[in-house]
Amino acid sequence: MTIYNLYRKFLEELSKIYSNNEAAAITQILFEHHLKIKKSEMITIPDLILKDGTVELLQNQLAQLIQQKPIQYVTENAFFYGLDFFVGPGVLIPRPETEELVQEVVGFLKTNPQKKILEIGTGSGCISISIKKNIPECNITAIDISDKALDIAKHNAAIHQTDIIFEHLDFLDPTQQATIDSFDVIISNPPYIPMKEMEVIENNVKLFEPHQALFVPDNKPLLFYEAIYSFSMNKLNLYGSIFLETHENYAKEVQSIFSDKEWNCIIKKDMMEKERMVIANLCR
Ligand code: GLN
Repeated sequence: MTIYNLYRKFLEELSKIYSNNEAAAITQILFEHHLKIKKSEMITIPDLILKDGTVELLQNQLAQLIQQKPIQYVTENAFFYGLDFFVGPGVLIPRPETEELVQEVVGFLKTNPQKKILEIGTGSGCISISIKKNIPECNITAIDISDKALDIAKHNAAIHQTDIIFEHLDFLDPTQQATIDSFDVIISNPPYIPMKEMEVIENNVKLFEPHQALFVPDNKPLLFYEAIYSFSMNKLNLYGSIFLETHENYAKEVQSIFSDKEWNCIIKKDMMEKERMVIANLCR
């Protein structure tokens, strides 16, 4: 089969479930990933005959995309804060808004890099690894409840040669939480989508990404933030800082958790102008 014909087939099939632009973008990512060829180069060699093995591989992946499997799971790769990360169904695919959280933390650590940092719910490890890569002097412990996620995070840390302590821990279990040390900085992108929003979540997210990393009960949407607050009242060092990603509709409520006078707490918007980050500093 020629490269042109296969490309056409991808566009045709994918535009049945995605917009034309998305179908084209997904096709380009996949062709670039496997054939190391950009669209601009491809159109100069439309008659190139692809090897049978290559056609089979790409067709197999097309079948997965038609099932609405996210492209990042198909290629097992997600680009985040300038680095490539291995991703698979056990971990959330890193989102652009989370890069902005990392940017805040890296900016903060530039002036005082020797901090002891805890990341709660590390998933693929992308937050901790990007921070460590940019601020090698900091000391990071990253925890997660999922063994699968920790395996992937450790794999990513090895790929990027970053020295991070990974621990299996259920942060919501008070006995396990009590075993955690004290820290200068706490970072988290915890699950924050109320279950009731399930119906408006896209299929590629809903059917494939880990619900444990995304959803919280409707009656306790701030579950993780409340736990982080009470943990930090005991274990955050003096002048410590907390960097949290939040649901766009709940940033104010998260801010109000940190409303006592010993906290200085601000909300930051992401590039989509959505209230997405809460940063709290302990100044007592
Ligand atoms: N930002 C993610 C999304 O909208 C959710 C991440 C999370 O729950 N922490 O899919």
